[in-house]
Amino acid sequence: MITIKTATEVEKMRIAGQITAGALSKVRDMLAPGVTTMALDTAARSYIEKHGATPSFLGYRDFPYSITVSINEEVIHGLPSSRKLMEGDIVGIDIGAFKDGYHGDMCRTFAIGKITPEAQRLIDVTRQSYFEGIKHARVGYRLHDITRAIQSYAEAAGYSVVRDYIGHGIGRNLHEDPDIPNAGAKGRGPALAKGMTLAVEPMINAGRFEVYTRGDNWTVVTKDGQLSAHYENTILVTDEEPLCLTLFDD
Ligand code: MG
Repeated sequence: MITIKTATEVEKMRIAGQITAGALSKVRDMLAPGVTTMALDTAARSYIEKHGATPSFLGYRDFPYSITVSINEEVIHGLPSSRKLMEGDIVGIDIGAFKDGYHGDMCRTFAIGKITPEAQRLIDVTRQSYFEGIKHARVGYRLHDITRAIQSYAEAAGYSVVRDYIGHGIGRNLHEDPDIPNAGAKGRGPALAKGMTLAVEPMINAGRFEVYTRGDNWTVVTKDGQLSAHYENTILVTDEEPLCLTLFDD
């Protein structure tokens, strides 16, 4: 069942989203060659806790950390570790904060130092596929109109869209109805209604769409070893443009 949030609930989600974005901003400021991904996790957790919230991912399905850090061919769910960022890496930071009963969830893919034009283009197309998608995230459209817009934009750019992991409704639960596929939608999906809160999150691969999970049981990587990028915000559906609840100065 897709829940419709009241104005009071939306305000709580906006606050959770602001903390999420603040923590991501803190992490972004640290990104440089030589920084360990565990240092990013520690900083994010401490920012979130300082703001009276808890990291949404910590303990979720026994996930042991507060953020996920997915580097280069890693698609999502990369584990913080002693691994050091390197010049030329692209790094997806996925982060969530839970405050006063509600979650915020977002992701950005960042460049470490100088990256190749190909890697930059993948980041840019992934970001734009999100914006193409959310043009349809308003009353008058159906859920899979978002999906189709993401897929057609990314594929027209020569990339492929991850099938096995998808966006989702969000609110009291980190993941709630509806599922929001980024590709391969069948039918048009439910009509979008005012007060729905959605985490729209295209995951775009430079090569083929197939992925697998590494032996750590978390890190999802591209099967062909090519780069992957990810972009996500938590949004509120309205009669007009969706309201971004995880506002971040990109
Ligand atoms: Mg999400």
